[in-house]
Amino acid sequence: MRDTSQPKELMQTELRQQQQRVELFSEVTLKIRQSLQLKEILHTTVTEVQRILQADRVLIYHVLPDGTGKTISEAVLPDYPALMDLEFPEEVFPEDYQQLYAQGRVRMIADVHNSTAGLADCLVEFVDQFQIQAKLIVPIVQTLNAHTHGTSSSKNHLWGLLIAHQCKNARHWVDFELELMQQLADQISIALSQAQLLEHMEEVVEARTAELQEVNRNLQQEINVRMQAEAALRQSEEQLRLITNALPVLIAYVDDQQQYRFNNQAYQDWLGQSPSEIDGCHLQQIWGDECYQRMQAYVETALSGRVITYENDIVLKDGSARSVNVTYIPHLDDSKAVKGFFALTNDISDRKAIERMKDEFISVISHELRTPLTSLHSALKILATGQLGTLSNAGQQMLGIADDSTERLVRLVNNVLDLQRIESGKVVMERQACNATNLMIQAAEVMQAMAQQHGVTLMTQAEDLSIWADADYILQTLTNLLSNAIKFSSPGGTVWLTVACHKKPSSAKSKKQTLKSKIQAAYSEVVFRVRDEGQGIPANQLERIFERFQQVDSSDSRKKGGTGLGLAICRKIIEQHNGKIWAESAPGHGSTFAFTLPAFDRVHHH
Ligand code: ADP
Repeated sequence: MRDTSQPKELMQTELRQQQQRVELFSEVTLKIRQSLQLKEILHTTVTEVQRILQADRVLIYHVLPDGTGKTISEAVLPDYPALMDLEFPEEVFPEDYQQLYAQGRVRMIADVHNSTAGLADCLVEFVDQFQIQAKLIVPIVQTLNAHTHGTSSSKNHLWGLLIAHQCKNARHWVDFELELMQQLADQISIALSQAQLLEHMEEVVEARTAELQEVNRNLQQEINVRMQAEAALRQSEEQLRLITNALPVLIAYVDDQQQYRFNNQAYQDWLGQSPSEIDGCHLQQIWGDECYQRMQAYVETALSGRVITYENDIVLKDGSARSVNVTYIPHLDDSKAVKGFFALTNDISDRKAIERMKDEFISVISHELRTPLTSLHSALKILATGQLGTLSNAGQQMLGIADDSTERLVRLVNNVLDLQRIESGKVVMERQACNATNLMIQAAEVMQAMAQQHGVTLMTQAEDLSIWADADYILQTLTNLLSNAIKFSSPGGTVWLTVACHKKPSSAKSKKQTLKSKIQAAYSEVVFRVRDEGQGIPANQLERIFERFQQVDSSDSRKKGGTGLGLAICRKIIEQHNGKIWAESAPGHGSTFAFTLPAFDRVHHH
């Protein structure tokens, strides 16, 4: 029984021991791994090995690249000398030893003095200094990964040695002790690679941190610059507001979508809407459909890049009607594209009121003058017949002058009243279809006597066209133009009166129209022309002569008996017919006065 039970007990003890060793290994490994600090790891290792092996001294010897080395961690009993920081001479650790250790050699020496240990005498002397009797040495090997030319190779390098000393006595080391030492040496080499990795990572992190700090600095700088720019912008905007708010006119900026982008305080005062309320609103939204209709064409002109000024009537928040003068100034970007326009609107109601008063005054005076003038005129006419007694030659001449002047005065008064009536909108053009040829013949008949008087030939070229107009007023226009043409012609000259279809310039819309409506649109206007061979009109006067009392030569009224109102009346009449009137001339080459009228077109009017 004893014989068989003994090996069994032995086995059990061994098993228990093995179990304990495994536990011990893992416990020590865990302790070592708890730190990332290499120094601490080394210290824990020597302390633990010393404790478990009950060795007198345990140390870690670090091998330097030049072959020398020194103790960098040590656990030693107080009775024995410490080797810490001691540098070993080269001969203690020759090159070939290093190579052997790098390949994994271990040394287990039970008694340094025993010849079987094979230690050189000098070495024995050296170890005696430190009272070393037995020693156990395992290498700490580091695997270096070298990357060259795309291929990676690994090389074992001896980093150091883990050494246990027995000083008190010689000692037979057992396998377990060697195993523990080897295991821990491996742990150290792992810790070394990790430390290296960590160091590398720290370098990377440091570099990255520096980079980020640089980026941050730049960002901060950029933010500062922007904040400064913003502050400057805010200040200049405030200044702009201050100026524009102080002015009693509407000042705005409208973008190419016809939306307000800037408004001054006057908008609040006039319309009761604050600049912030108006911001982003469409023009139509602010002014209402009716008022917007009157603005639209001008807005489009501004957005096509042209400066435009016009007059409009608006209603303020208190319900009062105002006349305004509006100017749009296009805003072009660097590439000359229209981004929007600046709008200036000022109140001209007072000026308009004065103009109205003046017109009314003239009209009243003229009206009051007409009756006495008419009787004066007829009285003079009767006197001229000689029915009431004959006059001397000189008296007859005087009478002629008086008659002429009175006639002029009557014309003037009639013209003033005419213009006044048409401008006030009190007269309604009674439009109907009329034959252009008939009108031209009538006008020519009326003017024939005057033409003969001036030695001027009157030529008409008729065309069978119908117009949609008030025949009386068109006749007045034609005779007015003919009278001017005759007046400003030299004797022997010719005056032509013509009419023709007028091709309207095709609009963008016409693309969508049918052929029939295209033809109608193209021929829906006729143009009348009165051409003479007279003195002509300078280019800078061509527009001005259509204004009231404007004459090329201020002596014209006296010399030619004009009033300076004829063309103004003509323009009013034609505008009332939705037509256009203009003059073309080159001084010395005669003049042409032309006007358009809507054609009478059956499809349209029936
Ligand atoms: P007026 O009664 O003076 O003719 P209008 O309004 O009819 O007034 O014409 C204004 C001015 O235009 C004239 O005084 C004259 O200077 C110029 N004018 C008009 N028609 C002609 C023409 N056919 N040739 C040259 N000048 C003209």
